[in-house]
Amino acid sequence: MASQNQPDYDVIGIGAGFAGLALIHYMREAGFSVRVFDKAADIGGTWTWNRYPGAASDSECYYYCLTFSKELLQEWQWSVRYPGWEENLRYMHFVADKCDMWPHIQLNKEIVRADYQEDTGHWQITTADGDQCTCKYLVSAMGMISQPVIPDIKGMDTFKGPCFHSARWPQDGLDYAGKRVGIIGAGATTVQMLPVMAETAESVTVFQRTPNFIMPAVQKPMTAEWEQEIKEHYDEIIAKCRNHVFGMAFDSPVGRNLADTPPDEVQRIFEEHWPQGSFRFVFETFDDLLTNPESNRVAGEFVISKMKEKVKDPEVAEMLTPKGYPFFAKRPPLDHGYYEAYNRDNVKLVDIKDREPLVEITETGIRTTENDYELDIIVLATGFQAYTGAQEALAIRGRNGLLLSDKWEDVSASIMGVFVADFPNMFMITGPQAPFANLPTSIEQNIMYIVDCIKKMGDEGFDVCEPQKEAEDEWVEHTADIHAQTLMAQGDRVHSWMMGANLEDRKPRVLIYFGGANVYYDKMRESADAGFPEVEFERIA
Ligand SMILES: Cc1cc2nc3c(=O)[nH]c(=O)nc-3n(C[C@H](O)[C@H](O)[C@H](O)COP(=O)(O)OP(=O)(O)OC[C@H]3O[C@@H](n4cnc5c(N)ncnc54)[C@H](O)[C@@H]3O)c2cc1C
Repeated sequence: MASQNQPDYDVIGIGAGFAGLALIHYMREAGFSVRVFDKAADIGGTWTWNRYPGAASDSECYYYCLTFSKELLQEWQWSVRYPGWEENLRYMHFVADKCDMWPHIQLNKEIVRADYQEDTGHWQITTADGDQCTCKYLVSAMGMISQPVIPDIKGMDTFKGPCFHSARWPQDGLDYAGKRVGIIGAGATTVQMLPVMAETAESVTVFQRTPNFIMPAVQKPMTAEWEQEIKEHYDEIIAKCRNHVFGMAFDSPVGRNLADTPPDEVQRIFEEHWPQGSFRFVFETFDDLLTNPESNRVAGEFVISKMKEKVKDPEVAEMLTPKGYPFFAKRPPLDHGYYEAYNRDNVKLVDIKDREPLVEITETGIRTTENDYELDIIVLATGFQAYTGAQEALAIRGRNGLLLSDKWEDVSASIMGVFVADFPNMFMITGPQAPFANLPTSIEQNIMYIVDCIKKMGDEGFDVCEPQKEAEDEWVEHTADIHAQTLMAQGDRVHSWMMGANLEDRKPRVLIYFGGANVYYDKMRESADAGFPEVEFERIA
């Protein structure tokens, strides 16, 4: 343990996923001592927890990665366009090995509290087994989508078979071959999981609340030519991500609006882009799909028509048709055979929102208002407490003992998703009111911003950086104003995790900055260049 005025580490990061690994790199490079803790048994974050069949990224591999080292970019070889969890995990190990990060990482350590110490300006963290240590700067690398939502369903603990959240998939795997599987939820996880499980399970029954707009993934192997092209153009790819509204290496804006394009031409362009897969359909066809309600409606109709071409049973197709909210108001999952799975005899879709609400889980399965479904395994694919869940799950106490979860009860306030007023010397990587974008891009941009702030503190001899309440109010208001102008704001109609509206005990909140990831990155740069006007810097006498 260090002396009273000397913390154990300059920086402590909580979380050893993409954000934790990038934190180690950038802090070490800037000359700071850094330690990263994770409650998981392995590094990888998302990819160590979400080991369900079919789990894969929706970002294409070549920009779903860390970019700080040219060597890493050149040496690593992806096998497919959208890597599965095993490959993503292997990639994270490659990064940690290659960059000698292991001495900075402590696994199987859940942080249960973090206390700001007014007298020193340091943070003290406490682990579940009672260990304590201190740092000058606390960084949350706990993930935007890491804290599962466990639904409160009557009888859940009476079920005799395995019943668990998809993000807590048994680490040693689960033998579901020949078993009757029930999946509660029909979001991105189920879209990935269903086609794989249906191949060997006796039956898979999906209990759906809200259908999604789903776009084709179009998985494909990484060929030698494609890999060479990527590796020769990494500087451009990184620049594209940095300058894109969604942090992805897309060629947009395209300079064309659907509203100004004749209908035949619209269809031709849609048809041309659809088979390319990924989110490119949204970003590389027309620039007004997410801003003009009529253009959005036309695009949404096209997506639905494609679903109807695949699903043979019209009644099932009707149940799979998203209604009452705009296209992209919920992030669309990518399809790896989801719709075709519903043409199989061993797959059944149950509408638990309107037709047969879920009543309880019994010893042997799931009971709805209409039926009893006999099951061997129940998977809760019920999503995440996005943006704030992980930080609210432990006791983070700032000035005057203020609990972060109390502060965020109604408004998940921050400055750019990085600073929180009353929580000095604390930073978040992709916290609430940051954009929803390609996460590795945002993570690295956030960390570079944080490093600049910490460097300024060291260079100028400050002890405390105090995020300003006025700056926080401004960001909250700005984020709400932008949100109000988007299709996402079509009110209560969008029951989306992106608004925290999947949490039954919480009011929907504006959790996301919708002004564009590129604009957001510019704002961080402007702030750093201007000496962080959102923050007051102080010395402790
Ligand atoms: C199935 C799935 C697919 C996804 N696909 C994409 C994609 O294609 N593109 C994209 O951009 N994003 C995707 N995401 C979002 C994904 O979360 C990010 O891409 C990325 O993994 C975030 O990295 P992170 O390090 O910020 O957080 P995470 O990977 O979530 O890591 C956070 C870590 O913090 C740890 N932690 C949390 N609380 C504590 C605590 N109290 N004590 C100790 N440790 C703690 C957790 O154990 C976890 O390991 C996906 C998410 C899921 C669930």
